[in-house]
Amino acid sequence: MNKIYIILLSILLTLQPGCRSQQLNFTQMSQYGIFHYCEQDTQAVKDLLQCCATVLPGIAGDLNLTAPENISIEIYPTQNDYNRNIMNPALQNSPAISGNGKIQLVSPLAKIKIDNLTYEERLLLLVHEYVHILIDGLDPEPPLFIDEGIACYYSSYQFYKSAAAQYVKQINFIPTTSQLKDHYHELPAPDLFSFLFIDYLVQQQGKQILPAVLTQPQLLDDILNTGWLEFVKQHYY
Ligand SMILES: [Zn+2]
Repeated sequence: MNKIYIILLSILLTLQPGCRSQQLNFTQMSQYGIFHYCEQDTQAVKDLLQCCATVLPGIAGDLNLTAPENISIEIYPTQNDYNRNIMNPALQNSPAISGNGKIQLVSPLAKIKIDNLTYEERLLLLVHEYVHILIDGLDPEPPLFIDEGIACYYSSYQFYKSAAAQYVKQINFIPTTSQLKDHYHELPAPDLFSFLFIDYLVQQQGKQILPAVLTQPQLLDDILNTGWLEFVKQHYY
């Protein structure tokens, strides 16, 4: 009896996710990449495509970067499906990930841990990963905080501005540019400060600074700390 119950349960669990487990049976070619998704995400994929068409050409232009061809974009119907197939299992429960020309995303319709993002902000998580893919093409790679800061700047501007207003003063520690560069993973809220650093650069020097720091990170040595630390204190303390 118990055995049968367990077998039934395991069959039910396998069948449960809307689109028979992790198979992404639908495909949509586009100039941004090949989308793989489940039927239930048909409309979400249309919305993602629309979002890409609206913002990506401007971003690629600002950064002076071209996307590689044949990017694969996998849209998973649930967080669990995404977790089971994620390219880096250490990052399970994240909403999106990218690497080696592939983007994986939890459907913007599915529930994720960060529950205060609007549907439009969820669409922009694809743009965030797309920016990483654009930057991945550079050799040598820029420092991680520049890469992450630019992705956040273009995908979640309002989100990070509000987070900064709410948390920077509480954190009460402003990393220097060399701490951002050399100790990223040890810092509190490194993505937030990376975002703020990019916002600072753009406010000071305009967007043309972005392709410059991406390809010549040594420029950062000249943008030393005084201005940056002052900027954060002035705006967020
Ligand atoms: Zn990122």
